[in-house]
Amino acid sequence: MPEVVSQRFDAVVIGAGPAGTVAATVLARSGRRTLLAERSTFPRTKVCGGCLAPAGIASLRDAGLGDALDSIDPLPLDALHLHARRATASYPIKQYLSIERGRMDQAFVEAATDAGATFISECRARVGVDDSVSLEYAGRQECHRPDLVVVADGLSGSSLAERDDFGWDIDQTSPMGLGAILRDPPPGTTSDGITMRCGVEGYVGSSRLSDGRWVVAAALSPEAIRNHGVQGAVHSVLRETGVDGKCAPSTRWKAVGHLTRRRMRRAAGRVLLVGDAAGYVEPLTGEGMSWGICRAADVLPYAEAIGRGDDVSAQWSSAAERMLRSRRVICRTVCGMARRPRLLEFGLRLSSRLPFTGWASQQLCWSHS
Ligand SMILES: Cc1cc2nc3c(=O)[nH]c(=O)nc-3n(C[C@H](O)[C@H](O)[C@H](O)COP(=O)(O)OP(=O)(O)OC[C@H]3O[C@@H](n4cnc5c(N)ncnc54)[C@H](O)[C@@H]3O)c2cc1C
Repeated sequence: MPEVVSQRFDAVVIGAGPAGTVAATVLARSGRRTLLAERSTFPRTKVCGGCLAPAGIASLRDAGLGDALDSIDPLPLDALHLHARRATASYPIKQYLSIERGRMDQAFVEAATDAGATFISECRARVGVDDSVSLEYAGRQECHRPDLVVVADGLSGSSLAERDDFGWDIDQTSPMGLGAILRDPPPGTTSDGITMRCGVEGYVGSSRLSDGRWVVAAALSPEAIRNHGVQGAVHSVLRETGVDGKCAPSTRWKAVGHLTRRRMRRAAGRVLLVGDAAGYVEPLTGEGMSWGICRAADVLPYAEAIGRGDDVSAQWSSAAERMLRSRRVICRTVCGMARRPRLLEFGLRLSSRLPFTGWASQQLCWSHS
């Protein structure tokens, strides 16, 4: 039987990725006693291309997390090199930053604790049907009844397992996410900006980190992984775009599940979902972190309303929907193109002849939340 603890938290945030750490910082700065609970041992790695979009950067700076971001030496990225079959095109983009997730999430945890939040790692949280939060850590079991629960436990989160009302609708045919950090540049990578190679089996992206290593992230069809294994499926995409080289056999790929998924709901009672936990499309446009950061930075008015006893679930969900609607259309269009390499190859060849391509590629970047 979990112990109901005397130390009372006003807010419990579950998951210490970008969405959870930003929410915890904002809530703790507002004077709320805030607990940030994280299942993994920190710092941890995370499957992610590590490209932070301008909207996310702006939102972090507005939320007072600019110093934490700068402390991890992010590397500016202002070009996208796109490859499909034998066509290649390079486009200017609004400035993204290349970051290593282990370092960034750790820096944001420190910012949250500096703001007054309590951080517990290796702590598994579960949200009960009555919106209570059970924590298991260091051999203890506790039950908390905070005014606000922010669920930011990502794609593979387990905290809502008891809550059927928050079930996932997962597209089982959608690509699986994979990532690795390499010492040497992956084959076919341009030394600056983001390199993206698209094939029928999926796409593989890479960019340099400020410490000289390289981050590789891929979204590959489940059949390709079943048929060729992870390494084989990555090499199949590289080969299709004219690259013969291979990633070192020792490359340690980390995987996440199917990427395209929707939550049945994004809020109920005192529980608000943010970041990947609230739904996801695909990572191709490099916006996942920014979606979570921008929503989390906006949590305070909802926390205040919940504190007054208001039901904000409809407003929270529709605000998320408003923010994501246009981006989701762009994301689905770009991902749809990427899955048709012949069409994309044609588009790349055509775009290299058009004078306004550079302007257009910059407009597609997400710069305002
Ligand atoms: C292949 C790939 C490439 C990507 N590339 C990019 C990119 O270039 N740019 C970009 O912006 N986005 C990218 N993304 C998306 C990005 O990684 C996610 O959108 C982002 O990590 C979501 O952040 P989050 O805070 O919502 O969740 P996460 O970062 O996933 O954090 C969730 C945390 O919750 C913890 N947790 C889970 N369950 C529990 C529990 N029960 N109790 C306590 N803690 C729990 C987990 O351990 C984890 O630390 C990519 C994704 C993939 C798969």
